[in-house]
Amino acid sequence: MSKQNPSFIKGNLTPENKRIAANRNINIKICLKCHCHNSIKATKCRKCGYKGLRLKSKQLERRG
Ligand SMILES: [Zn+2]
Repeated sequence: MSKQNPSFIKGNLTPENKRIAANRNINIKICLKCHCHNSIKATKCRKCGYKGLRLKSKQLERRG
């Protein structure tokens, strides 16, 4: 497993890659207990099983 997707190498972020990265960040939920990242479809934390998950996007849009 030494192959690496070139688009994910640090310092080589194109605008498109940044947009993809942003979407990836939006489509996750954060566990309120252990702050573990879970998929958007998750109903409970995959790490600790806690059901208190929040969307990351809401947090990001709350600036200002
Ligand atoms: Zn958790």
